[in-house]
Amino acid sequence: MGCFAARALSSYKLKVLVLESREDVCCEVSKANTGIIYDSYNTSPGSLKTELTNKANENFPELCRELDVPYLKCGSIMIAMGPKGDSVIKKKYENGLKNGVKGLKIISGEEVNALEPNLSKNVTSGLYSENTYSVNPWDLAVAAYENAKANGVTFLFNSKVTNITRNDGFKVVSDEKVYQARAVINCAGLAAADVHNMCNPARVELKYDAADYYVLDTTSKGLVSRIILHEPEVKQKGINIVPTVDGNILVGPTRRHVESDFYDTENAGFEHLDSECDKVLDGLDKTEIIRNFGAVRPNPYYINSDDKINDFLILENDGFISLLGVKTPGLTCASELGKYVAEKITEFLENVEINPDFNLVRKGIIKPSEMEPESRDKLVKEHPEYGRVICRCRQVTEGEVIEAVRRGATTVDGVKRRTGAGMGRCQGAYCMQRVMEIISEQTGCSISDVNKSCAGTDIVYEKL
Ligand SMILES: Cc1cc2nc3c(=O)[nH]c(=O)nc-3n(C[C@H](O)[C@H](O)[C@H](O)COP(=O)(O)OP(=O)(O)OC[C@H]3O[C@@H](n4cnc5c(N)ncnc54)[C@H](O)[C@@H]3O)c2cc1C
Repeated sequence: MGCFAARALSSYKLKVLVLESREDVCCEVSKANTGIIYDSYNTSPGSLKTELTNKANENFPELCRELDVPYLKCGSIMIAMGPKGDSVIKKKYENGLKNGVKGLKIISGEEVNALEPNLSKNVTSGLYSENTYSVNPWDLAVAAYENAKANGVTFLFNSKVTNITRNDGFKVVSDEKVYQARAVINCAGLAAADVHNMCNPARVELKYDAADYYVLDTTSKGLVSRIILHEPEVKQKGINIVPTVDGNILVGPTRRHVESDFYDTENAGFEHLDSECDKVLDGLDKTEIIRNFGAVRPNPYYINSDDKINDFLILENDGFISLLGVKTPGLTCASELGKYVAEKITEFLENVEINPDFNLVRKGIIKPSEMEPESRDKLVKEHPEYGRVICRCRQVTEGEVIEAVRRGATTVDGVKRRTGAGMGRCQGAYCMQRVMEIISEQTGCSISDVNKSCAGTDIVYEKL
């Protein structure tokens, strides 16, 4: 949200500063989600969620062209395996029609199986949606960050906001410095309620639940060709099975209540994934699992109320705008939400001029593995570092890793999110050392200062 809000603000003549508490962009909620670009069959008619989801879904291919972000237009099927699921599917279909969703149809269990032969033969019906996409959330966030930065936004990392007071605008305290701002957009994700309450009446609290996922190797490509969303017969979270842009299959998420925003994977979550896979796929080949990860959802509630707030909650108070507990489809709507809050800010500031130099185009890092042999040979002749493969699983070259560091990666995970190095079956066992060396060479830090992610995730200890 912060990257897209900054990108939208950079289309105006404004001085924009992003204060980010982590070492990089996309290290919290946006780093761990299902990567689905939804249409609006699941959202309430007339809501802001529906309005923005419709716009976002329609504009998504164009957004990806602007930002050079790959995506799969794979479509999705919500599947039912009994009468309760069948009736939910009918309701969602009708809801989708009300919301103006195109490319939606109900299909029979046999039709589902014909399209997706690896699914259980117990599927009774499916809601097929043509305009659902799969995207890597890291690609989107990094692209928005780079584009905002290229258009003049300043990003400061390791800069946690610790206090905000109203005084001739706002005094924002971070890392023992005070920044004076005419307006503030609070996109602090899991901490958004705390940041909001720094200088506004406390109206909302966030309660958290956690999620677990499996990532299957690229050898499982084709297990499903469309995004599968299971609507279970009993009251529990059904799983999604998602073909990713990188050729993996993602399975998840679960939903587990947690008391705080700290989260990790849990055996109970994996047991749930296993039992769901047994139902939906007639079992999962566990040798295909190369990684699991955890995620956390911030659920917004009005204070002293047990009613969950389901729409996007955006609170405005005299130059201060908070996005509170933005959950699914927050990734889908990130760009539209960014534009929405940027417009509110410019209305508040009044007479803001358009930035005539704004360029909405950003180019991604060159990937030799995806080039035609002739162009690749030419590139390698001019830049030999693009001929030296660092990550064998994903065929990532030294040139790509160097470029990722030049664009802002300072950690092994930062390089992984920008290049894919370390995402294959060996999970970095082969390439991590060379990636660390390149970060050290390019940034001038010592190898023992290269972390996996945030402070405290050391990989090498100097004194061992
Ligand atoms: C399990 C799960 C699955 C999902 N699946 C999908 C999906 O398939 N499709 C979809 O459309 N949406 C999905 N979503 C929703 C989507 O991921 C979120 O809506 C979106 O990522 C939220 O982004 P954000 O910027 O609000 O939060 P974040 O990405 O967490 O960003 C908040 C940032 O604020 C920083 N911050 C926090 N406190 C401070 C502070 N005090 N000072 C400075 N910086 C601070 C954090 O470090 C962080 O970088 C899913 C969400 C979850 C949890």
